[in-house]
Amino acid sequence: MYPEPSMEEHETAAYVVERLREMGLDEIRTGVGETGVVCLIRSAKKRGKTVALRADMDALEMTEETGAEYASRKPGLMHACGHDGHTACLLGAAAILHGMRERLPGNVKLIFQPGEEGSAGALKMIEDGCLERPKVSAIAALHVFGDLQSGAIGLNRGYITAQTDEVRLTIKGVSAHAARPHTGVDSISVAAQALIAIQQFIARHTDPIDRRLVTFGIIEGGSRSNILAPEVNLSGTIRTFEPKSRAAIINFLKKDLRKLVGAMGAKLRVSIEEGYPPLRNDDGVLDAIQVAARETLGEGRVHELAVPSLGGEDFAFFAKAGVPAAMARLGVLDEAKGFVSTVHRSDFDFDDEVVLPAGAATLAQTAVRMVGS
Ligand SMILES: [Zn+2]
Ligand SMILES: [Zn+2]
Repeated sequence: MYPEPSMEEHETAAYVVERLREMGLDEIRTGVGETGVVCLIRSAKKRGKTVALRADMDALEMTEETGAEYASRKPGLMHACGHDGHTACLLGAAAILHGMRERLPGNVKLIFQPGEEGSAGALKMIEDGCLERPKVSAIAALHVFGDLQSGAIGLNRGYITAQTDEVRLTIKGVSAHAARPHTGVDSISVAAQALIAIQQFIARHTDPIDRRLVTFGIIEGGSRSNILAPEVNLSGTIRTFEPKSRAAIINFLKKDLRKLVGAMGAKLRVSIEEGYPPLRNDDGVLDAIQVAARETLGEGRVHELAVPSLGGEDFAFFAKAGVPAAMARLGVLDEAKGFVSTVHRSDFDFDDEVVLPAGAATLAQTAVRMVGS
């Protein structure tokens, strides 16, 4: 009910710390990567390796329209990506693991991270040492998923989320009277050609088996209907898995598209801002999640997913830091109860009573499996 935007998760972090202390956990570090929280559940055996579980805490800048009694009390802010659910699941796992620490063969580090939605909070926590003292040897996480039955677990072998890059194109033409287009350079017309050329390049010059896409979400230009627009700006996102496809797309934008735009008398400026790396699930960690989910939820609620997502996820930074990492999907779909929405929508909601215990149990058992192997 009290969502906070990326890197401003102050009350959420304080709430997490309060719940952990209530459980009797006291090895807690706050302010990690600004607003992150790290809690260590130490094995009573005082040895063994350390594994980690991660949840994100930030919300999105949108107004909730679920009408639920527990809906956001803050207009313009909503847990539309289910990160409140992830945090609740990890608190549940903390309670379970703390209760069995006498039998735990190793330590479990709980990572409550800020700023997943575009602020690379995971990277901030890594730079602030969340994977050290004690050193983390494997890490797992769950993310809610609208295409899978409520309380079920979905597993992607290999890639699960994509590399994200922000792209901005500026096409500079020359303004002129609309009735005398030959005396100027119509940047809107050139932009139309450029957009088609980009999609054509993706479709005909990159490998269709390797998933990739370019989407432009913003196009701006012009001031009057009877003047040639002198400049058009396009902003979009590039999503890829394989570095080869990413390099090919960026090379096309910076070299060939510039020639095409130049042939029509306009100039092109391309700026690319690197986002999140792709996440390729580690087989060993994914096996641990799979076994754990089968043990806690039953075979019938654990599914292999055929296709990855072209969404981005900053959990990928843990893998990039060299720690074996895997993320699984936690289903939230329940048509009979009317939970049919998906993440980043204002009507997103799920059944807490089914989803949260499934997530908490799976996370706790995954840690047991990881630490014992
Ligand atoms: Zn999201
Ligand atoms: Zn998310």
